[in-house]
Amino acid sequence: MLYKELISHIQGRYGEFGGMYVPEILMAPILELIKVWNNAKVDNIFNQTLNLILKNYAGRPTVLTEVPTFAAMINGPRVFLKREDLLHTGAHKLNNALGQCLLAKKMGKTRVIAETGAGQHGVAVAAAAAHLGLTCVVYMGSKDMQRQAPNVSRMKLMGASVISVEQGSATLKDAVNQALRDWSESFVDTHYCLGSALGPHPFPEIVAEFQSVIGRECHKQSQDLIGSDPDLVIACIGGGSNAIGIFSGFLNNKKVRMIGVEAGGHGRLLGEHAARFATATCGVLHGCYTYVLQDQYGQIASTASISAGLDYPAIGPQHAHLYKSKRVEYVSASDQEALSALKLLAKSEGIICALESAHALAHLIKIAPDLSKDHSVVVSLSGRGDKDLPQLMNSGVI
Ligand SMILES: *Cc1c(COP(=O)(O)O)cnc(C)c1O
Repeated sequence: MLYKELISHIQGRYGEFGGMYVPEILMAPILELIKVWNNAKVDNIFNQTLNLILKNYAGRPTVLTEVPTFAAMINGPRVFLKREDLLHTGAHKLNNALGQCLLAKKMGKTRVIAETGAGQHGVAVAAAAAHLGLTCVVYMGSKDMQRQAPNVSRMKLMGASVISVEQGSATLKDAVNQALRDWSESFVDTHYCLGSALGPHPFPEIVAEFQSVIGRECHKQSQDLIGSDPDLVIACIGGGSNAIGIFSGFLNNKKVRMIGVEAGGHGRLLGEHAARFATATCGVLHGCYTYVLQDQYGQIASTASISAGLDYPAIGPQHAHLYKSKRVEYVSASDQEALSALKLLAKSEGIICALESAHALAHLIKIAPDLSKDHSVVVSLSGRGDKDLPQLMNSGVI
């Protein structure tokens, strides 16, 4: 299980957040999923099978790398990076995709569907489905398909069908709507492989559990490299899966400070960022009660970020609870700050991280001079930056 405070949830509540706000037709597959999941999470064979796949196919454990040159350049404490960029397909998303595809097989499903924004989750599910012999369909906004053409090709190469979504703003939230529609008609043979710690119960719990491998490894590696838990853990937050994954390894130790970094985009007005806690208003999106970016009438606001992976108007319910209970601090970093951070890490350490992950580094750069030099900071490097090269070239970074 994730950690003590989150265990006590009833029907997927984290404090007041979470729940299952779905149309009646989706209750059938959700109840089936809850039943199989409750069984799978304590099933030794299921967990052993998943661990072997994570090791021999995905490349776990990922290393924890100290970056002293970067640390010196930011006048900071010791800095360690948890290298999810080294995982197969280039980001932490594969941990969840493999877990859910294995769960789909346990349920006797032959087909998986998924939504994707930047295409990272789509690529992870396409890979997991190919590896495990499942049919795969990915819903993607038509705008995103244009912006992320290489990832569309990757998914197709691995045998997935990519369906273009023209509705709404033709981006991620519209792709989620279409995937939910598909699921309501296809759940007899289909599992919906949701991509972040979001959506109706039991998805936030399932995704957080599959990503908790990051925190477990990092906890152990910290003992080996630092000799204790780190003083501070920082992660970027789109829906919140890499963050809850790494945080879960340290939440029980009250001495470990934690910071989640949202996308500050290019301005403070609604529509110019994806910093849900900047306005901190609650509502329901995609089956989940949480903090959402919305206008005065409760219509979901548009969002903006240089990193597609952080560009979503709601945040996972575990983070909503950790914010309200003040266990974790939440801040934002702007597009420009993320670009500078990416550049600095690449030059100083030879690591090109994803623009998403660069948001976490950007906040560290901001606070580094005020941190004690003998402190240790772990940053979740959620993915690699190859996918962002076109964006970097457009922004004049290269
Ligand atoms: C998708 C993605 C994210 C954001 O998703 P979370 O669920 O918040 O982790 C962050 N980093 C990378 C590299 C991603 O691909």
